Amino acid sequence: MPDPEETPARLAEIPNLTVLPGAPLSRYTRFGIGGPADVYAETGSAEAFIAALAEIRASGLPLVVIGGGTNLIVSDRGFRGVVLRYRGDRLMAANQRVMAEAGAVLQDLVDFTIDRGLRGLETLAGIPGSVGAAVYGNAGAYGHSISERVIGVRFYDGAAVRVFSNEDCRFEYRESVFKRHKDWIVFSTELRLDPADAAALRKIAGDILAVRNQKFPVTMKCAGSIFKNLLFKDLPSAAAAEVPESAVREGKVPAAWFLERVGAKGISRGDIHVADYHANLIYNCGAGTAADLCALIHELKSRVAARFGLELEEEVQYVG
Ligand SMILES: Cc1cc2nc3c(=O)[nH]c(=O)nc-3n(C[C@H](O)[C@H](O)[C@H](O)COP(=O)(O)OP(=O)(O)OC[C@H]3O[C@@H](n4cnc5c(N)ncnc54)[C@H](O)[C@@H]3O)c2cc1C
Repeated sequence: MPDPEETPARLAEIPNLTVLPGAPLSRYTRFGIGGPADVYAETGSAEAFIAALAEIRASGLPLVVIGGGTNLIVSDRGFRGVVLRYRGDRLMAANQRVMAEAGAVLQDLVDFTIDRGLRGLETLAGIPGSVGAAVYGNAGAYGHSISERVIGVRFYDGAAVRVFSNEDCRFEYRESVFKRHKDWIVFSTELRLDPADAAALRKIAGDILAVRNQKFPVTMKCAGSIFKNLLFKDLPSAAAAEVPESAVREGKVPAAWFLERVGAKGISRGDIHVADYHANLIYNCGAGTAADLCALIHELKSRVAARFGLELEEEVQYVG
């Protein structure tokens, strides 16, 4: 096995790969939290990305792939291994089909489709992050998710580049096959959209953006919702009996409904706060740490478990 100590130097020899030893991951997360990675590397070239993966795997070093860092909690100790980011961001359209590379900003894809009078992604307006992570976590809002429009996903499984159909991706609410195979890297996705009036789509997206920007100011250091909403059919019967019909939307109960009832709004630990207007929104006031953030999440989960006998599941992903 090659000496892991030499990995940064070997990575630096790969053309088109930017390599930053010791990079602070707080710079790459919207929470603004996270210690250093042994190595951070990024590239817009699929070939360079695959070469880097081969090098890292040969070295035996741990690896994590990130996108825009908008849904990550990185440990204060950082990550002992290599953090890789794929930045290929091409967007292409042919008739009603659109190809988007994983490193593209999701909002750029939304704007790209709206500008071409293509309907289907406008309700995703304002969801931060990259296209690759949106596929990975089946991002969505306002009753729609990206999976409704995905025809196929091109990804690397560690040995070869493969293409999965929508069905192969096993999309569910905030889930996909890629969440269950964390070593599979999404390179691009193909989507099918419907023709529509661009001005009408722009209005829908603009209205959604205005609401979202109020709820999540663009400078807020957060990850959106911390916990997934819960499927009503999966609730323990005692908890289900307490939920009023009016709280159930599209078969789901917002995690915030349970959190509000255990007094989550406005509580804090250090510089980490639960918003006083939204019980499922936690943000860093500036000097917050991952330790405080994780402790607050643990506190909220414990309160909900004790009161309702159910376990909230994080939507955010942990690194380190
Ligand atoms: C203010 C705010 C509001 C939000 N609102 C919503 C919302 O309404 N709906 C919603 O669904 N989400 C929402 N989110 C969460 C977040 O925007 C999504 O989860 C988004 O898809 C994360 O994208 P990212 O590029 O930042 O991914 P990251 O946070 O960097 O990574 C998230 C996960 O994706 C994996 N990943 C990243 N790129 C790839 C790839 N190419 N291949 C395989 N795996 C990959 C990472 O390993 C990680 O596990 C919100 C977040 C914020 C901050």
